[in-house]
Amino acid sequence: MLSADIIEVDLDVNQPAELSFEAGQWISVPFGPKNVRAYSIASTPLSSRRITLCADVAPGGIGSAWFRGLAAEQAVEFKAPFGGFVFRRDDPRRSLFVAEEIGIVPIRSMLTWLYATGFGRPAMLAYWARDPEWLVYDAEFRSLVRRYPGFAYHPAVASTSDGPSDGASGLAAAVDRLVPDVARRVAYVCGGESMIHRVRDVLVAKGLDRKSVKWEKFW
Ligand SMILES: Cc1cc2nc3c(=O)[nH]c(=O)nc-3n(C[C@H](O)[C@H](O)[C@H](O)COP(=O)(O)OP(=O)(O)OC[C@H]3O[C@@H](n4cnc5c(N)ncnc54)[C@H](O)[C@@H]3O)c2cc1C
Repeated sequence: MLSADIIEVDLDVNQPAELSFEAGQWISVPFGPKNVRAYSIASTPLSSRRITLCADVAPGGIGSAWFRGLAAEQAVEFKAPFGGFVFRRDDPRRSLFVAEEIGIVPIRSMLTWLYATGFGRPAMLAYWARDPEWLVYDAEFRSLVRRYPGFAYHPAVASTSDGPSDGASGLAAAVDRLVPDVARRVAYVCGGESMIHRVRDVLVAKGLDRKSVKWEKFW
């Protein structure tokens, strides 16, 4: 448990013995015909025999129940990898990462992987959660800031007196403030649909091409 409603699990990969994937991709867990749940891989491609998942189980549906019920040594089946929300390392533009609550998962994989493998370029993360308990991996991002001067980290929570009350408002305002110009920018945005739209609107209003806003919608 990373907090009361957030569960992190490690899965050992047995068959096949390794899973090759790109940072930002996800797995699909089956719950019967035409019923699946997607979970982004929180760990990095550097570990192909053990992957980490991280879920917000507050929604309370079958995916949440599956996570809550996982036991040590239990066998699980899933399909992977999927998804095009991946970091293009050869892209020379300045990266902006934007995460709403558990939408941090694929971005945690990308940032950890990038800095673990010698990515020396600047990057910025704007991250919003309802309160500090929901700001998972916060300590890791603070550690990245200490080790990599080019990494800028801007967490925000709603529970402070002047904090924005929802992720869409909080992150739209943060991005507006933190990104004065969009020249040579690319954005990676993950969380709820309304937040993605609001953040994209802010960036497009500043002149960014829509295609330069890459996104993954969790809900
Ligand atoms: C590509 C992709 C990757 C994903 N990766 C992750 C991940 O790494 N971790 C993770 O926790 N979830 C992730 N999700 C969401 C996940 O697939 C499920 O939707 C989530 O776990 C809820 O499933 P459920 O069966 O418990 O609830 P459901 O009954 O499916 O959902 C109930 C309602 O809650 C909404 N909802 C789902 N998640 C949230 C949320 N976090 N906050 C607010 N509302 C929500 C749903 O849209 C739905 O309206 C991902 C989704 C996609 C599409």
